[in-house]
Amino acid sequence: MKTFKIAKIPGDGIGVEVMEQAKMILDKVCNEYNVRLDFLELKAGGCAIDECGNALPKETIDACKTCDAVFLGAVGGPKWDNLPGSERPEQALLGLRSELGLFANLRPTKVFHDLKEASPLKDSIIEKGVDVLVVRELTGGIYFGSRGRRFVEDVGVQSDKAGYNYFGIKGRKIMENLEEAYDTLCYNREEIKRIAHRGFQAAMNRNRKVTSVDKANILESSRLWREVVEEVSKNYPEVQLNHLYVDNTAMQLVREPSQFDVILTNNMFGDILSDEASMISGSIGMLASASLRDDNFGMYEPVHGSAPDIAGKDMANPLAQILSGAMMLKYSLGMIEAAKKIEDAVELVLKNGYRTGDIFTTGMNKVGTCKMGELVLEALN
Ligand code: NAD
Repeated sequence: MKTFKIAKIPGDGIGVEVMEQAKMILDKVCNEYNVRLDFLELKAGGCAIDECGNALPKETIDACKTCDAVFLGAVGGPKWDNLPGSERPEQALLGLRSELGLFANLRPTKVFHDLKEASPLKDSIIEKGVDVLVVRELTGGIYFGSRGRRFVEDVGVQSDKAGYNYFGIKGRKIMENLEEAYDTLCYNREEIKRIAHRGFQAAMNRNRKVTSVDKANILESSRLWREVVEEVSKNYPEVQLNHLYVDNTAMQLVREPSQFDVILTNNMFGDILSDEASMISGSIGMLASASLRDDNFGMYEPVHGSAPDIAGKDMANPLAQILSGAMMLKYSLGMIEAAKKIEDAVELVLKNGYRTGDIFTTGMNKVGTCKMGELVLEALN
């Protein structure tokens, strides 16, 4: 029997409840494939602050590094809301991403046929099928470039008489003592190359289409992005590549989302587009995510937070956590068929009319967290 070691971090609030259901499903499906998951229970977030005085204890990081994957619930809650930003539970997420070198964020949005009423888009758009994966660069770009504020006088820069500022752009006059703020967007070839490979690899397991999103009509970093993505695409002749500007992509996502398979993009564009794409599904309780590096290692977690308003009430939708588990099987453990089995089981439960409160509509059967877990377990058979 093959064994994988999984760092299990339930975290806070509903994280604990949805994790329990997802673990049960993973154990069952892996057992069928003669695979054992050795879960190592670790602390991060608010519960770690309470117990160890720190949202991300060193023992947690060290233990994660010995595992094949990290499976995380959610962190945070009102109890820790008054702490300074650098000490809050959510710092654990940033810490894990950087300590584990997770540079690629994958967020799928699929509109399940039986949940199409939850989507804010018209039926005529949804019926064409929505199954988009946003592959976002996570550790570079404008969120990590140098930034700051300065006074024009301090840096000794003046615009010339024709109104050109020091970037050579006409139309913005720089006045003395005018305060300005700057953020730098910089990508090197290697950073683009590795995320592009991730995007194409993901497309190979899907519908073999990559849309690379940039702003190459304006930004130099986007022109390099486009160049490198073109080079990387030569390694994947079966995958069809097209390029779109980010503004157009934002429109196309709501106009005709069925045209997309994999959207490959930088950190900031991906941040915005993945949120836009996720709303198409209509429920945060259904959205899974993965953060990967260039080996098989990854961290898997639902997009939602710890939902303190419903925590401890058996009301949380466990499907995002369960689908994150399926992603872990697919991307870190190489169990593509087993992952599909979980996705099919979720689809069947929805088809049979069972809904947690967040996706409930009249005429359906309303169930709680534990019951939803049990139903998915039954559907696996
Ligand atoms: P949230 O995602 O926790 O909740 C937003 C709304 O969605 C709430 O009404 C909640 O009840 C509902 N919801 C979320 N997940 C659900 C599920 N699985 N089933 C049913 N309903 C669900 O976001 P928030 O309220 O802004 O944040 C709450 C706490 O979680 C904060 O401390 C925040 O910082 C933290 N947070 C953590 C993560 C993470 O761990 N990745 C992400 C976002 C927010």
